[in-house]
Amino acid sequence: MKLLAQSIATQLGSSSLIRRMFEAGHELRRRVGADNVFDFSLGNPDLPPPPAAAKALADIAASACQPRAMGYINNAGLPELRAALATRLAKEQATPALGADHLIISCGAAGALTSLFRAILDPGDEVICPAPYFVEYGSYCGHFGASLKAIVSQQPGFALDVAALLNAIGPQTRVILLNSPNNPTGAVYTATALSQLAEGINTLNSKRERPIYLLSDEPYRFLAYDGVVVPPILPLSPYAIVAGSFSKQLSIAGERVGYLAINPAMPQGELLMQALTITTRTLGFVNAPIIGQKLALALLNEGVDLAIYAARRALMAAALNGAGIEYTLPQGAFYFFPAAPGGDDLAFVEKLLAQNILAVPGRGFGLPGYFRLSFSVENETIRRSAPAFARACGR
Ligand code: PLP
Repeated sequence: MKLLAQSIATQLGSSSLIRRMFEAGHELRRRVGADNVFDFSLGNPDLPPPPAAAKALADIAASACQPRAMGYINNAGLPELRAALATRLAKEQATPALGADHLIISCGAAGALTSLFRAILDPGDEVICPAPYFVEYGSYCGHFGASLKAIVSQQPGFALDVAALLNAIGPQTRVILLNSPNNPTGAVYTATALSQLAEGINTLNSKRERPIYLLSDEPYRFLAYDGVVVPPILPLSPYAIVAGSFSKQLSIAGERVGYLAINPAMPQGELLMQALTITTRTLGFVNAPIIGQKLALALLNEGVDLAIYAARRALMAAALNGAGIEYTLPQGAFYFFPAAPGGDDLAFVEKLLAQNILAVPGRGFGLPGYFRLSFSVENETIRRSAPAFARACGR
């Protein structure tokens, strides 16, 4: 009996790695107790939402029993949130002309990317992205018959390999998809590299009927360290698009609120915006959750305490140093992507597991030989894991 679509059956088979970590985590907690498991495998933000969230939710609750207070709303999102977000993004993206009509509110960055891909990808199209990459990208474009082509980033440091990305473009290429600050590496791409990439795309677009979009997935834009600035993407190309999210900025990942904004100078951009309202509706999102949107509006310029993430980054660096594990210090986001000692990411993740440490092998992000650690966990967990890392490395 074939219960499943072939593509999903194949995916189930190949996601056994992540399932294995998940099951191993369960088993470990049962055996040694949750306090003795060092789980660095999850990208689920653990910081509490900003204190203003409680008051904002109380205000939402106060008007909850009015007719349609929680009914369907515009597919593109609450007009007040779109307007306020447009003001913020106009500054953040150095694009003064950006208005509410140039953005939609989505179900997280995930919903933003999916709605966009539905609107612009035809079967056989290609999305190019640097490796390593957020593993769901393959599914987001695969749903619509398109494929992901990954181009390995420069090492060490995971900088963009602009020449390789431009060389990889072919007739079927529809999107160059970047993620900065990056999951899993923590890299922030420089303004120079982004400009060079955009210049190449713009030159190619002048001769193409179907433009190549420069798409930046930025759920971690708010989280950069040591004064590093995340350069804006929208001004770089008429076909630039940004996907963002409140999941991590406000620690409300379960509320599913994000957005997609286009360069106001995009030729026929209003057509794309119309298409996005249709795809958001017909993919089954209909509209992003209304409570989450109201919460995002109330907390638009708030954020979680970044100093906590910075302190954890330092603790994780110290634990890795003590074990002699090599890494590039992340410039943003809350992940390390160190080289696996011995070179085999699967084998090393097993060694970590034997010390009650959960990590994700790099091949799960399209780059074997490395492993990912999320430091969205309590300081004490990181501190106490240091001897376990050292033992995994035979120290
Ligand atoms: N893109 C990247 C790079 C991510 O790491 C994540 C979540 O971890 C997402 C998109 C999806 O985030 P959201 O909760 O905003 O849908």
